[in-house]
Amino acid sequence: MPLLVLTLLLAACAPVPQRAGIPTSWQGSPNFDERKPNFVVIHHTSDDTVDQALRTLANPVRKVSAHYLIGRDGAIIQLVDERARAWHAGESKWGADADINSASLGIELDNNGREPFSDAQISALLRLLYDIRERYHIPAANYLGHADVAPRRKTDPSRYFPWKTLAEHGFGLWCDPPFPQPPAAFDATAALRALGYDTGDATAAIRAFKLHFLPEESSSALTEQSRGLLYCLYQKAAG
Ligand SMILES: [Zn+2]
Repeated sequence: MPLLVLTLLLAACAPVPQRAGIPTSWQGSPNFDERKPNFVVIHHTSDDTVDQALRTLANPVRKVSAHYLIGRDGAIIQLVDERARAWHAGESKWGADADINSASLGIELDNNGREPFSDAQISALLRLLYDIRERYHIPAANYLGHADVAPRRKTDPSRYFPWKTLAEHGFGLWCDPPFPQPPAAFDATAALRALGYDTGDATAAIRAFKLHFLPEESSSALTEQSRGLLYCLYQKAAG
């Protein structure tokens, strides 16, 4: 192939830079790399099979997706390039970050929400998380559930999700009982906010917090036990 044709072909494949909407000059710099995700958000699909989930996650009308879908058998399917913004978290917030889709990778687990997650599926998830952490160095506290970042709207992954197991591998925070006694002035709502929860609806935030860290407590009130747990996590997050 003549060199000129080859050069033109290669030039045609180079991505066009995203430029400002107003006239600017271009002076390229070599000092950059790709933007990288800083959160992982875990979901359950609410479906009974991977095929059902795929029909939703790849349907242009539904406008939902995730970077990965993991089957009950542990098979991992990638649906969206990690550099792209998948549509999995929707309206969501964590700390000051109000656009979680732009900052995260989304992982869907094939699970209907009323059943335990299989060992094969959790092993595959852990393998994927190790790979993701190796490449992006996402901090432990930033492995979250959909309900954590959208407490008013979402309850996934369900109470069956093994957050404690994930935390043992460094994905997510955790505290085991006995929990410390918080000081009298301890402000639980402020602590939830400090962890990252959107406390605009405090009851929803408490419910999401318990779903993640204390699923055996079914009430949405803060008990002595859940206050102690919150205080422990708050201290860990503060580092
Ligand atoms: Zn979800």
